[in-house]
Amino acid sequence: MKKIAILGSTGSIGTQSLEVIRSQPDMEATVLAAGSNVELLEKQIREFHPKLVCVYKEDAAKLLKQAVADLDVTIVSGMDGLIEAAAFPETQIVVTAVVGMIGIRPTIAAIKAGKDIALANKETLVTAGHLIIPMIKQYGVRLLPVDSEHSAIFQSLMGSSPEGSTGHKIDKILLTASGGPFRGWTKEQMKNIRPEDALKHPNWVMGRKITIDSSTMVNKGLEVMEAKWLFGVEYDQVQVVIQPQSVIHSMVQFEDGAIIAQLGTPDMKLPIQLALTYPDRRYLPGKRLDFAELGSISFFAPDFENFPGLALAYKVGKEGGNRPTIYNAANEFAVSRFLDHKLSYPGIIEAIEASLDHVGFVQNPNVDNILETEAAVYEFLQSALA
Ligand code: NDP
Ligand code: MG
Repeated sequence: MKKIAILGSTGSIGTQSLEVIRSQPDMEATVLAAGSNVELLEKQIREFHPKLVCVYKEDAAKLLKQAVADLDVTIVSGMDGLIEAAAFPETQIVVTAVVGMIGIRPTIAAIKAGKDIALANKETLVTAGHLIIPMIKQYGVRLLPVDSEHSAIFQSLMGSSPEGSTGHKIDKILLTASGGPFRGWTKEQMKNIRPEDALKHPNWVMGRKITIDSSTMVNKGLEVMEAKWLFGVEYDQVQVVIQPQSVIHSMVQFEDGAIIAQLGTPDMKLPIQLALTYPDRRYLPGKRLDFAELGSISFFAPDFENFPGLALAYKVGKEGGNRPTIYNAANEFAVSRFLDHKLSYPGIIEAIEASLDHVGFVQNPNVDNILETEAAVYEFLQSALA
């Protein structure tokens, strides 16, 4: 039996992870964690019978305890609870599907407890990749990407060093992007975008924060940094290619010029399931790609001018230190303000730029430095956007 912890079980990735577990008789959701969604957690507990459940918010944890008083399950809360959930002794693999930098400490706790990581929470790698990657090696665990592009790159590399080979060298990662709902728009046209407009992604149904990030291309920026850490390449080796149909999930170009890609319908259950069954593939029901129906796939260069969030990501990535943390924390803060109708759409990128101008540089930040940088960004933006 594969015993799995899902951090963020009530979210888009979390619920799809549970769908995968439901379909696989040899998998078990031993641990669940979420922020505050007691109603859905209760349903999940009654169906999956986890042993430990963390609800981050304490008052929500109290409500959940009452709701499942008839069951044999331990309910914990807060950061200590989330860390306990991540490091629960019985699990083999932890799906990190919480949204935002809150994922850093639990991910580290899981690695130190010897768990494999099915990584959806890209913010953790963006801000703490320089700490996480060496730790993965030190503790001898696997880091399996769930993000569809990174899973595609990972799949393109599966079997890339057959027996007897001296290794196949990556020349370039071709990271595909749909371009989001505002592809082809100018900055001027994007001035008055409302949350309702930006929450409509053409190809993927995802959580609210990542859907906004996809529309600004900040998501692709975060993914460029995620790719750098996951695959050990330089920023100049990661090239973004706009492919609006989301059929090619990403590609790898090797040193001889050969390009290997992974294609499929847009369904996150594939990368989630593969992360949970790796190195095996298993049957997954669902629509198959029909090339005759598809007709054509088109490609464009990214528009760095009208989507400055992408250019900024390369810049902060290369600058290193706590610069990616400033970028990410400012984006998290600004997106939540935008979703609350308290910040304009262009205000998101402006908040990132202003934070990069105001918050001091820290070389080689440890976890405390990263969390201090996040707090400094929040403090700065709270007064700047008051
Ligand atoms: P959602 O907003 O749908 O879900 C977020 C999850 O995190 C919820 O279960 C939420 O619980 C939980 N959560 C929030 N705050 C806390 C907290 N303080 N403690 C514990 N749990 C918390 O997000 P997504 O599923 O879309 O995204 C999750 C991660 O996966 C993100 O990092 C995203 O970038 C990444 N990702 C997502 C993809 C997608 O298709 N959705 C694709 C690729 C990557 P609650 O419901 O109680 O608030
Ligand atoms: Mg992605």
